[in-house]
Amino acid sequence: MSELNDLYQEVILDHNKNPRNFRKIENANRKADGNNPLCGDELKVFLELEDERVQDVSFVGSGCAISKASASMMTQMVKGKTLTEAETLFDEFHRMVLGEMDEEAEENHLGKLKIFAGVREFPARVKCASLSWHTMHAALHGEAEISTE
Ligand code: ZN
Repeated sequence: MSELNDLYQEVILDHNKNPRNFRKIENANRKADGNNPLCGDELKVFLELEDERVQDVSFVGSGCAISKASASMMTQMVKGKTLTEAETLFDEFHRMVLGEMDEEAEENHLGKLKIFAGVREFPARVKCASLSWHTMHAALHGEAEISTE
């Protein structure tokens, strides 16, 4: 477990320092604002959808290291996926951080996202980790705004 903790810290620090896909998409056809008032995380997620596929995805905003690292990894995982695959990832991530899924026992597509499994021990942090996923999900469904409150 301490190995996982080390990996967790390393990955969070890396993505917080160098967030991937941290930019606006000028020709985005979907975008949504996500807000986690409990922590002060504020993100905007941009999506470029074409032929039922996420051609491009990005985010901007500010927040704690967990929210930013999670958003960075969310964009990496969702980019290039079909809408159905993106929905599946959202569902799996959500169930994992809520502790409703045993990510080691159940078949899933989470891969490196499993490092976030530990946040389920910290209810306030669950919202930080899942904010970008909820925001991406809202954008997929054409909703403009979500709040975790
Ligand atoms: Zn946060």
